[in-house]
Amino acid sequence: MNYNPYENAIKQLEDVARLINLEDWILNILKYPKRELIVHFPVRMDNGDIKIFTGYRVQHNDARGPTKGGIRFHPKVNLDEVRALAMWMTWKTAVINLPFGGAKGGVVCNPKEMSLREIERLSRAYIYSISRIIGPYTDIPAPDVNTGPQNMAWMMDTYSAIRGENSPAAITGKPLSIGGSEGRVEATGRGVIIVTLEALKRLGLKVRDTTVAIQGYGNVGYHAASIGHKFGLKIIAVSDSKGGIYNPDGLNPEDVLKHKKKTGSVINYPKAKNISNKELLELNVTVLIPAAIEGVITRENADNINAKIISEGANGPLTLEADKILHEKGVLFIPDILANAGGVTVSYFEWVQNLTREQWTLERVREKLDEKMVKAFNKVYEIYKEENVNMREAAYMIAVRRVAEAIKTRGVWPS
Ligand code: NAD
Repeated sequence: MNYNPYENAIKQLEDVARLINLEDWILNILKYPKRELIVHFPVRMDNGDIKIFTGYRVQHNDARGPTKGGIRFHPKVNLDEVRALAMWMTWKTAVINLPFGGAKGGVVCNPKEMSLREIERLSRAYIYSISRIIGPYTDIPAPDVNTGPQNMAWMMDTYSAIRGENSPAAITGKPLSIGGSEGRVEATGRGVIIVTLEALKRLGLKVRDTTVAIQGYGNVGYHAASIGHKFGLKIIAVSDSKGGIYNPDGLNPEDVLKHKKKTGSVINYPKAKNISNKELLELNVTVLIPAAIEGVITRENADNINAKIISEGANGPLTLEADKILHEKGVLFIPDILANAGGVTVSYFEWVQNLTREQWTLERVREKLDEKMVKAFNKVYEIYKEENVNMREAAYMIAVRRVAEAIKTRGVWPS
């Protein structure tokens, strides 16, 4: 099957447009990114050769504020993928009510086959190539697949050099030493747990009786496990790409992390039984957190899901067909644009701190993150109840309405 993420994103938008009676002219604006830039730029490799790389930056919509979105380094990055991801960022920032629009960027490359110095030169050359269309008040990049704080540091340094001024607010996800925010690394996992706790409350379920299975033990999965455990949830299964582990009496996330660091995987953890990723997804648990990759719950296995709540830590772990089946089964799923928005929310806090030259404490960041996540969850839950739609549709309805309202209020110009 030729899955095209951009066509899928447009279909999602059209479905929501029908639900909210969106005017055609606004739908037409939202179907297309406002601006797309394709760059081909040279990078000197360690052996002296000059190699040409292709990069993209797509700004979907900026009616609610400067566009915001990560940069991925991956051999399979392509324009339609970046377009879809940019559109999803517009909805993500809108559903959390951040004063941002959506964007995304990518470079076709395989960083696993490159040296650190080559990756530095690539990061700098890419930012140089797109520097005319980004900036603290226009479009603010951040990390995504295969990019992290160090790439952001090089990118911010390059952007600042081009502008001739220190410009920390141009890039988020930076290391703490150069204007990064406290709490950024744990933010997505924390957000996943905060909305999960709200969902438990709404369903009248007690934290102490709650069991959780988490697929993926990377940035999102590990922090969700660790923070969930601290809030009193019982984490009974976790996994990574090699397989999963299960202990009905509960796992200690820090101990599991130590084991993973030592052996390279969570599997063969002495205080648990090995299970497959398939078994993990189908466990009889209160909460399932898919926090690894997209498309893991589909038409084929949706009926076997036994969780009461699914919190989408990853982007796109449920297919649209799975949404339908799970909604009919009475499973409450918290969609990615809401559940995993903790990262972009703390990116917003980082931007605010950079613009005001302030440094917030970890406690302040956590408090403000929790407040935003709780508010957004409850708004989505209200629409879900009032309009008799599923949680994803409810989140999209709120997001698209907010963006449409901004477009209408600003008006169309020049015309
Ligand atoms: P990561 O690379 O740190 O971790 C990914 C984890 O998933 C690893 O443990 C890996 O072993 C596991 N995994 C990979 N393939 C798997 C498979 N086939 N089956 C089971 N496990 C598998 O990535 P991350 O930053 O934690 O991101 C995970 C997901 O969350 C992605 O979809 C990402 O787009 C999304 N996300 C991340 C953030 C963030 O702030 N990191 C924010 C929003 C969304």
